[in-house]
Amino acid sequence: MQGESGLKRIFKRLLGNSPEKKTQRKKRGQAAPLPAPAIAQVEVTTRCNFKCTMCPRTYSSGEKNLDFSWDLFERFSAFFSKLRLVHLQGWGEPLLHPRIFDMAALVRQKNAQVAFTTNGSLLDERAIAEILHLPMQHVTVSIAGAEASVHDAIRVGSDLDALMGRVSNLVAARKRKGLKEPVVHLSYMVTRASVSGLPEMVRKACEIGVDRLVAPNLDCPVTQAEDDLRIFGFEKPDKAHQNAIEEAQIVANKRKFRLNVYPLTLSDDVIICELNPLEQFFVNVHGDVAPCAYASVMGRSDYCRYFLGEKVPTSPLVFGSLAEESMDSVWYGEQYRRFRRQYHNRMHAYRNVAAGRTDIRNMFELDAYFREIDKALSENPVPGFCLKCYKACGA
Ligand code: SF4
Repeated sequence: MQGESGLKRIFKRLLGNSPEKKTQRKKRGQAAPLPAPAIAQVEVTTRCNFKCTMCPRTYSSGEKNLDFSWDLFERFSAFFSKLRLVHLQGWGEPLLHPRIFDMAALVRQKNAQVAFTTNGSLLDERAIAEILHLPMQHVTVSIAGAEASVHDAIRVGSDLDALMGRVSNLVAARKRKGLKEPVVHLSYMVTRASVSGLPEMVRKACEIGVDRLVAPNLDCPVTQAEDDLRIFGFEKPDKAHQNAIEEAQIVANKRKFRLNVYPLTLSDDVIICELNPLEQFFVNVHGDVAPCAYASVMGRSDYCRYFLGEKVPTSPLVFGSLAEESMDSVWYGEQYRRFRRQYHNRMHAYRNVAAGRTDIRNMFELDAYFREIDKALSENPVPGFCLKCYKACGA
């Protein structure tokens, strides 16, 4: 595998194909096997001490203070040794689960990595000591602006200055102990209100010593007002927004700091979304298994997301319950396999057109090549549920 590019390796892993195996399968008339799961996201609680304006939980009228049962988690943990990573987070604040660190310890016992994303309000001395003791591999803290007036107005209940102090404590404690883990990320949600503050947040993040700042888009707006805050789309991005992002990149480069900003321009030829449902899955607080957190939002059937100004009524898409069957039985169930097969076929169709195309000599052939790719992708669309999801367009 030495010398092989990262992208090639990812494709090989996802497609699981050697040319010989492919030929053997063709002879036997078999389809290529679907990949095994690698990452689980587990909604350990739906409780939260904030009322963020962009979170579906804020608008949910149903029961929203549930914890994942310890018994169920213990039973599910038999599956963790098959996974690379277990991410303890859903539509709630994970540190509110009374046994969150027991859960993390159980993941570690099964030799999987453990991560969580937090609003940071409960990252006190005790929590930091627990995180370092395990240690957890990844901690991500959510931010919505570089100024308190922006952050606190979106993440209602938060206090940006206190939050940055707690992140700083975590990084300093890790340093004192001489540890490399957890890797600490800030997740800075980019909106019309926050984008101009991105360069300033990069400076702050460097000063504190966090490892990386990731700047995702508001990719699942649940109200029209939130969709209006979005700055990405199919059209060319606003110059001022782009300038702010470029400035942030310059600040980061000067400091050799890792900054990842999600693209502002959507594309209709994304092969598979970043959450890669071929390898990842989401388990909600009841133990129901869905391809991603957007497919099971607070268990609601009346949930709407917005897509380019259109209100899209969305019912949950779940493929089974861990309360009733094992994860293996859900993952290999017929309907779930059919869902994943759509993505798998799409990847293969793309690969069949793109593989080894080093023979393009002029613009006409390049144009024909792009048309072939468009055709392959339109003949193998994403599953219906994903059609009006910004993540399916590269957000
Ligand atoms: S495209 Fe959207 S809905 Fe579909 S799996 Fe990805 S994140 Fe989930």
